[in-house]
Amino acid sequence: MNCFLIIPASGSGSRMKTNIPKQYLRLKNGLSILDQSLKTLLKMDDILGCVVAIPQDDEHFHTSAYQKHGKMLAIAQGGQERFHSVLNALNTLSEFANENDWVLVHDAVRPCIKASDVQSLINELRDGNDGGILATPVVDTLKLADNSEVQQTVDREGLFQAQTPQMFKFGVLVKALENVVSNNIHITDEAEAVAQIGGKVKIIIGSKDNIKITVTDDLQLANYYLHNFTKTS
Ligand code: C5P
Repeated sequence: MNCFLIIPASGSGSRMKTNIPKQYLRLKNGLSILDQSLKTLLKMDDILGCVVAIPQDDEHFHTSAYQKHGKMLAIAQGGQERFHSVLNALNTLSEFANENDWVLVHDAVRPCIKASDVQSLINELRDGNDGGILATPVVDTLKLADNSEVQQTVDREGLFQAQTPQMFKFGVLVKALENVVSNNIHITDEAEAVAQIGGKVKIIIGSKDNIKITVTDDLQLANYYLHNFTKTS
């Protein structure tokens, strides 16, 4: 089973209100948010190589501790939307991967990913399926609101919060994202693109601490989780 990793790292992180893109902000352990993800994932035996998508005018990736790592295959150019960045990375990866190889796409801004969860994802998908994602069941009561006024309660039964990595057969993901581009479909993750072409996407339960760094407070929470992983591992 050949698995490759794509990290889209071309977001501007405007909600974070910092001078540098959020994937390059430093954690308490000294690593950037992006490097923390790379540290965990590049160590995994099942991951053979990686492509990171960065903006054309990127000024930070050259400082990454992993830019010359043996599994770092190439850098791709980021695009306007996340799926453009992923598609560019897939095109770059086509030099190294075949149709039936697997690709894991992981947000650069989820530094608390645990190798054990990624291993579960890989193990679950070994025999069949077009792909799968890490996700956690929704436990809160969900409200649909308009102008801060509750309109209705949404039944949470069967609802999950999608995380990354999201893992698909290389050929399936290329076809799915090309379909998104040519039909101008709005998507926010790869799983939606694959579902749009009729692909089957399996849910594998992940950990709640695999948070996406979006606002400043999330950084403190990530530092807390990472500190506790170190203490317990
Ligand atoms: O913006 P958001 O938090 O949804 O970004 C999720 C991931 O997608 C981040 O790692 C970000 O760097 C990446 N991204 C990208 N290209 C874009 C927008 C986001 O690679 N155009």
